[in-house]
Amino acid sequence: MESCPKCKSNMIIDIVYGFPTKKMLEDASKNKINLGGHEISENNLEKKCKSCGHEFRQLEKFFRE
Ligand SMILES: [Zn+2]
Repeated sequence: MESCPKCKSNMIIDIVYGFPTKKMLEDASKNKINLGGHEISENNLEKKCKSCGHEFRQLEKFFRE
């Protein structure tokens, strides 16, 4: 289970980047994901804590496409 490095909450959601699909908008409205915007960069944060709002990266990794 993921937990927040700041407050240790396990209410962690994914931050999703790119143009949002209908599914992504639905998930965002239910607070299942957080929309991060259209800009995709390797510095983007991946996870957001719903308890304290802290955004962080879970793992150091790079997108390879
Ligand atoms: Zn937190």
